[in-house]
Amino acid sequence: MQQLTILGASGSIGQSTLGVVRRHPERFGVFALTASRQVERMLADCLEFAPRFAVMAEPAAAAELRRRLNEAGSRTQVLDGAEALCQVAAEPEVDTVMAAIVGAAGLLPTLAAVRAGKRVLLANKEALVMSGELFIDAVHHSGAELLPVDSEHNAIFQCLPPELQRTPGRGDLAGAGIGKILLTGSGGPFRYTPVEQLSEVTPAEAVNHPNWSMGPKISVDSATMMNKGLEYIEARWLFNAAPHQIDVLVHPQSVIHSMVQYSDGSVLAQLGQPDMMTPIAHSLAWPERIESGVAPLDFTRLGELSFMAPDMARYPCLQLAIDACGAGQGATTALNAANEVAVAAFLERRLAFMAIAGINQKVMDSLGASRARSLEDILALDAQARRLAGQLIGKQA
Ligand code: NAD
Ligand code: MG
Repeated sequence: MQQLTILGASGSIGQSTLGVVRRHPERFGVFALTASRQVERMLADCLEFAPRFAVMAEPAAAAELRRRLNEAGSRTQVLDGAEALCQVAAEPEVDTVMAAIVGAAGLLPTLAAVRAGKRVLLANKEALVMSGELFIDAVHHSGAELLPVDSEHNAIFQCLPPELQRTPGRGDLAGAGIGKILLTGSGGPFRYTPVEQLSEVTPAEAVNHPNWSMGPKISVDSATMMNKGLEYIEARWLFNAAPHQIDVLVHPQSVIHSMVQYSDGSVLAQLGQPDMMTPIAHSLAWPERIESGVAPLDFTRLGELSFMAPDMARYPCLQLAIDACGAGQGATTALNAANEVAVAAFLERRLAFMAIAGINQKVMDSLGASRARSLEDILALDAQARRLAGQLIGKQA
């Protein structure tokens, strides 16, 4: 029986993970569930899965969950705070950690799981974007297993030869006969909206993704294609890829989840429904295969698959992220932090959609050359970039 900690259990990925776990009670036990403050969701899931621990990042939410679980006669122990998130990720009884907290808040608990040598299922791409080399070094130092959950990276992983699957971040793509990684993305809800209308779009329109159902932050990132930019940086680290080895392709139907092009002209692709239960089930069971609950693809009903190069005028955040990846860890850390603050401001209607890229650019220009070698450097730069982004947004309002 594999014992699981699910970081970010109340979110979109967390709930899809529980959906897969529910189908395989003989295979997976739930050791801990965590959330920031979603008491009702956590109450229901703790009663169903009876984890040893439930962690709420917010103390008031933890107190309420503790009281409600006690009333219901549950034996789940409720902890609170950021330290407890790291603790349940690293406990000796835990085999596998699903890292599905959104944003920089997931960095320390995800790193705690890596340092404890767990099988880490990585959904929280921001953690890797922020810490890059340090994260990959920690994986190799502890002997942790790193499996990508992000659908594109999971697809690429599935198209790699086994020796590269077993050496995350350290494989030799060219040596394995790989010319390019082809990272696909739908282009989001505004791929056909005239560019001059983009300044008017609302949060409700931006989070209404045509193909995927996801949390609000990643949905906005998909609309700006910052998500593909973060994934470009994620691919750089996961697959030890140089810039000339990664191409981004817009593929509106989201049927192909990404591809790997080999030097003999072969292209391997992974296809499936746009449902995260597929990559989650893959990463939970790898190298075996288990049922995910996702319907098989019906090729007779797919229609046409199309592809195009991304238009950088429509998606300036994508270009920024590619530039940041080339510039180094200071730039990617500053960009990620600025983007989190800008997206939160957009969702709260304090910033226009097209202004997200402007905030990101300014923060990157000011802080992109900062030192970001140690974890302390990275956390300090993240905080500094958040303050600067907040000030810039305040000035615009
Ligand atoms: P979500 O907003 O639905 O859920 C986020 C989870 O993180 C919730 O459980 C929330 O309680 C928790 N959380 C938020 N802030 C926290 C904090 N400060 N401390 C502790 N916990 C906190 O997000 P999601 O869509 O599930 O995405 C989670 C991660 O997975 C993101 O990094 C996202 O980029 C990545 N991802 C998501 C999808 C998807 O389909 N949803 C696909 C690929 C990658
Ligand atoms: Mg993705």
